[in-house]
Amino acid sequence: GQKVVLITGCSSGIGLGIAVMLARDEMKRYYVIATMRDLKRKDKLVEAAGDAYGRTLSLLTLDVCSDESVKQCVDSIKDRHIDILINNAGVGLVGPVEGLSMEDMKQVFETNFFGAVRMIKEVMPDMKRRRSGHIIVISSVMGLQGVTFNDVYSASKFAIEGFCESLAIQLLKFNVTLSMIEPGPVHTEFEMKMIADVSKKEFAGTDAETLQHFRTYYLPSAVNIFQGLGQRPKDIAKVTKKVIESPRPQFHNLTNPLYTPIVALKYADETGNLSVHTFYHMLYNLGGVMDVSVRLMKCLTCGCLRRQTISPV
Ligand code: NAD
Repeated sequence: GQKVVLITGCSSGIGLGIAVMLARDEMKRYYVIATMRDLKRKDKLVEAAGDAYGRTLSLLTLDVCSDESVKQCVDSIKDRHIDILINNAGVGLVGPVEGLSMEDMKQVFETNFFGAVRMIKEVMPDMKRRRSGHIIVISSVMGLQGVTFNDVYSASKFAIEGFCESLAIQLLKFNVTLSMIEPGPVHTEFEMKMIADVSKKEFAGTDAETLQHFRTYYLPSAVNIFQGLGQRPKDIAKVTKKVIESPRPQFHNLTNPLYTPIVALKYADETGNLSVHTFYHMLYNLGGVMDVSVRLMKCLTCGCLRRQTISPV
């Protein structure tokens, strides 16, 4: 029969894209429960879903930061039966650490880490009992590789990666699968929110030199990277559907092949210096070059990397 899929954060972006693609599956293999914090924001999803809405797509309210909301939502589903849980809800945070409040940082963890943990904790026991299920987490390339000025966001994604890597081992025994999806940049509200947020904030308490690095080196290159390499929510939905339909799903799933070398750096040099030095060069010496793989190739053939020394900016 139809597989019941619950997705978090479906009012925009990747969550919306996955909900629509699965609900519009030609063979109608999925019954999608698309959830969002506030159903007032349903219009974009409903419009994109077309005639799937009310047939293979239904909506429920769910805030991943609230115990009651999560429980209420799952309890309202017939037999609490969820075959596939897609943890997508997430928030970004960029800027120099000195200029960010502890409150903002905690909010990122509340959503990106504890939000996904709360969902898994609610749904996993039923999956274990039934000895079937698939849990998917929309992580990020930044869950595998830290990126300057994304320190806390990256940490929140590393945290959920570590949690899931640990859990996946036990879940195998119960025939429950766990898969991480690791997109690079994707054109969604995430990107807009970042740009709007940065233009609003003063990052008070940050020294002038750091602020200058953030505003003149990091931000323009981040915008370039989005422009040059950004994928569409549909691309991420396609990869996610493939993972769901695979007879032996992979644990890690990068959606953008251009990021494969970045992850490979970690495994190529166990000291970690290659990654740190490469990113140093990408930020300070090669700013403005659009294609990450071009940047990377330059870094890999750069003498100072081989000497494991950092040349002056
Ligand atoms: P988005 O801002 O369009 O979507 C995120 C969704 O999560 C929004 O609909 C938002 O309302 C929802 N959300 C936030 N807090 C929530 C909460 N407490 N409860 C329920 N929903 C909540 O951005 P997106 O790019 O579609 O992000 C989706 C996921 O993809 C996130 O986990 C993000 O970290 C990840 N991701 C995004 C990118 C990118 O470049 N856009 C890259 C890698 C990973």
